Amino acid sequence: AEEALRQAQKMEAVGQLTGGIAHDFNNLLTIIIGNIDTVLRRFDPATDPRARRALENALKGADRAASLTQRLLAFSRRQPLAPKRIEVDRLLSGMSDLLTRSIPEAIAIQIAPAADLWSIEADPHQLENVILNLAVNARDAMPDGGSLTIAARNVTVGTEGEPIAGVPGGAYVMIQVTDSGIGMTADTIAKVFDPFFTTKEVGKGTGLGLSMVYGFVKQSGGHIDIDSTPGQGTCVSIFLQRQFDSGAERHEDIEAPAAQPG
Ligand code: ADP
Repeated sequence: AEEALRQAQKMEAVGQLTGGIAHDFNNLLTIIIGNIDTVLRRFDPATDPRARRALENALKGADRAASLTQRLLAFSRRQPLAPKRIEVDRLLSGMSDLLTRSIPEAIAIQIAPAADLWSIEADPHQLENVILNLAVNARDAMPDGGSLTIAARNVTVGTEGEPIAGVPGGAYVMIQVTDSGIGMTADTIAKVFDPFFTTKEVGKGTGLGLSMVYGFVKQSGGHIDIDSTPGQGTCVSIFLQRQFDSGAERHEDIEAPAAQPG
């Protein structure tokens, strides 16, 4: 599990780096190519054949580099999400073995999804990765043991429901990962979603876990909230929008089309 996680984070890092580099590099090449092109058009190549040959070679090289970056960009493009209908309670129960293996015995794990959770739509593989990332962070925050709870419940946010800062009104399944660990200062909380921000020793943290979690939640149209107190613990809440069944609830809202003769 540890290895799979490290691998996923590495791929994420490589993807971000190559994506960023390729993009900038490509912009620079556009400038180089444009300038060489200008020289070739404006100056009489007959006056100095060596200059022309040098420019032509430079142009060829730059063209090749441009096609290389195109391929790099295609390679580094983020893996698209493959959203599916998810029963969160089953997904969480299915992770229980993996979690027990990744978390030392000194930490009491509780997986507690409420009964009758609404359905959501998300990429199940990536959602598992998100929960694993949060659980590993919780583990790292409790070197002397403690408790880790992964809970899930239906939440209605807004005028008729609970107001939750930063979460727009709507119906959500809220997944909460809570630990009794070292907690975070307000300063740390402000930076946790930054790629490569870590307070862990070199080699232990990549600083990519929570930026990956954030990316997933945003791409899935959800929200994330972190509540943490130094010395007491941390609670990370993820809100994923309720998806209505194609059955009963929806049909009431949709007007049946009038029958058209012919
Ligand atoms: P990494 O775990 O590799 O450091 P993350 O992006 O997952 O990267 O986390 C960034 C930082 O946020 C961590 O280094 C740590 O300081 C803080 N953090 C994240 N989760 C917790 C938690 N449950 N308890 C305390 N601090 C945490």
